[in-house]
This record gives sequence, structure tokens and C-alpha cells, in this order.
Amino acid sequence: MRSPVARRLQGFGTTIFSEMTRLANEHGAVNLAQGFPDFDGPEFVKEAAIAAIRDGRGQYARGTGLPDLHSALAARYRRDYGLDYAEGEEWTVTSGATEAIFDAIAGTCGPGDEVILFEPYYDSYKACVRMAGARPRIVTLHAPAWRFDPDALAAAFGPKTRAIVVNSPHNPSGKVFTREELESIAALCRDRDVLCITDEVYEHLVYDGAHIPMATLPGMRERTITISSFGKTFSLTGWKVGWAAAPAPLTEAVRAAHQFVTFATATPLQHAAAVALSLGTEYISLLRDTYRGKRDYLVRELKRIGFEVDAPAGTYFVCADFRPLGFKDDVEFCRMLIEKCGVAAIPPSAFYDHKRLGKSYARFAFCKKDHTLETAVARLGQLCA
Ligand code: PMP
Ligand code: GLN
Repeated sequence: MRSPVARRLQGFGTTIFSEMTRLANEHGAVNLAQGFPDFDGPEFVKEAAIAAIRDGRGQYARGTGLPDLHSALAARYRRDYGLDYAEGEEWTVTSGATEAIFDAIAGTCGPGDEVILFEPYYDSYKACVRMAGARPRIVTLHAPAWRFDPDALAAAFGPKTRAIVVNSPHNPSGKVFTREELESIAALCRDRDVLCITDEVYEHLVYDGAHIPMATLPGMRERTITISSFGKTFSLTGWKVGWAAAPAPLTEAVRAAHQFVTFATATPLQHAAAVALSLGTEYISLLRDTYRGKRDYLVRELKRIGFEVDAPAGTYFVCADFRPLGFKDDVEFCRMLIEKCGVAAIPPSAFYDHKRLGKSYARFAFCKKDHTLETAVARLGQLCA
């Protein structure tokens, strides 16, 4: 029989996250692979969801998102970034950022269009571009500074370019794009009339410098779809509540897809997200300080073990170069790490078209309990024994 998988989805296989978590469980390895906290989210947020369920908030929510959540999001973006998005018209609540990414790409791009992606890319971008029937155009972020060549970027903008996806803070590198870099991307978008889809799910996890939303740059609000997620900031990744903020015409495009993909997102979880997002800034500062401590610990220990590694400016990931330890290939290294050391990491070549560029690194997630990180470090110590 011919493969039942549609041609545009062939070749993607099973996501590297599912694959590595499966292997980690199989080998009893410490999972520093998939990016999810191994601790629970805040009690008051869980209580708000339980209260909403008890109150009978069990039917479909408004398709575009609960009014309370729109209000909380609008107030938060105004406070944090001075960005004004109208409740009702300019917000779409989705089932995680993953759905918002699909809606944004499928809602604006189609056959004949090209979408620029930076590699290493979060794996869903390329699959979404393909599902939309469009074509990805890849521009490389070169390790170890994860910078792009401005000429290569300019060359990627052609007559078919419809959109560019920018992810800052960036998974897997931990890079936070500088204002200068964002300005150069913005200038090309404005000059060539290209849309910008920004994935800012790690917006609050910046340790050095500051997160700059693309939509705050001159002339960019009107051409940008800003995507983020509740899961990272509130350590509840399994709730899958995300959103897209965009001016009304672009929101219309996002919703054109959203209404037929999920129509609406889980009602009680939206109630709880509205409560969580209405909080002051204290919770987030605390979370950031906690993650900064975990980052510093893991980076210091990885260096001691013999990896070459720079502290990431944002996210909860660190990419470590294992060549000084005598290894060459990320897939082989990560397999060995699970089987021999009992630690799981992500081989970043999964996020590259040009596989060889990603094959000297392993991505470790530090959104884990101190004890989990300490166990992983003790096991990784065998590498230098
Ligand atoms: N974008 C990036 C860069 C991510 O790392 C993730 C991962 N978790 C997502 C999107 C997906 O977010 P969500 O879980 O809200 O769908
Ligand atoms: N974003 C998470 C990571 O990068 C994983 C999300 C997923 O499993 N799809 O590890």
C-alpha cells in the first residue's frame, strides 16, 4: 500500500521531543530533553481552573477567546510593552502557541508563497509551512553566537516571500535577538511588504538584556502577528493555552484558520489563565530569578565536565558543544548519553535543513527541579572520568 501519510507531511517523522522523551522513559534517563518543567504550576492558578469547572464553565468558550482573557492580555501587553491591541478584535486565543503558529501560517500563506525560517527552527514551523502548501526558505543562525548573515537574509527575500517567522527568545539556542537584528529584519519586511510572524513564547524568560517585541518597532505593528503562550510563564505546558495578537485584518486571517482547526480552547483553563495573567509582575520576576540560578548552575557544571558552552541570554535551554569531549555527531552523542549516562538531551540537527551545522551540540533543558539537575550533572560527570 502507498503511504497513507499525505505527501506534504512525509519526511517529518515523529517529533524529536516525543522521540527523546520515549527513549528517556525507556532507559530511566533524567529528561533534560523535552522542554517542560518537572514541577507544578502555581496553586492559585490551579484553584482558579478547579473553581471554573465547579462553577459549570464546561461549554464552548467564545471561539476567539473569553472576554476576560482578552482583557487580561490587553492590559498585560499595554503594561509590559506599551502595545495596544483591542479586546474582541485583535486577540485570538488558541490551543497553545502551536495552534497559533499553524493558524498564522495557514491563514496567511498558501501555494506559491515562500516563508523565511531561521535555522535552527522550532520543528513545527516547517511542517506548518508545508501543510499550508507554501515553501520554506531557510536562513542560518551561525553558532556559537547564533548570528545571521545580513546579506543571506536579504537574498532570501524574493518576489514570492509572503512571511518570515522570527522566534525570540530563540529555541534551541537561547539567543535573544538584539534591537539591531530585529531592525534589519523589520526593514526588509517593510521594504518588501512581507508579514512577520513572531513566536515570543519565552518573552518573560530573558536573563541578560531585554525582550523586544517585533510589533514595537516602527511600522511593524501593522504587519506582525505576535504569538505567545501561557504554558512557559506559568509552568503549565500541558494546559495548551496560547494566543495571537495582530491588527484586525491579520487577526481575520488567523481566525479564518482557527475557527476550523479547534474553534475554541478549553473554557475553564481560559478562566484560570485570565486570573493568572492579571497578576502583578512579582511572580514573573521570581520565576526568572529561579531560572537564572538553574541556568548558571547547569552552564557552570557543563563547563567543568568539559563542554564548550556560553550562558544563553533567554529561554530555558542551553546548547553545549561536546567536541572537546571527543564526540562528533549529535544524534550519536544523545543516544550514547541516554544509554550510557542516563541523561536525555535533544540533538539539534533535528532543527536544521543543513544537518551538519547542528551536529556538534546537544540541547539541555534546565526547567527542572534542582535535584533533577544535580542528578543529571552527577551522571554527566562520567564523561570526564
Ligand atoms: N514555540 C516555541 C519556540 C516553543 O519552544 C514551543 C514549545 N513548547 C512552542 C512554540 C509551543 O508552545 P505551546 O506549548 O503553547 O503550544
Ligand atoms: N517546546 C518544547 C521543547 O522545545 C517541546 C514541545 C513539544 O514537545 N512539542 O522542548
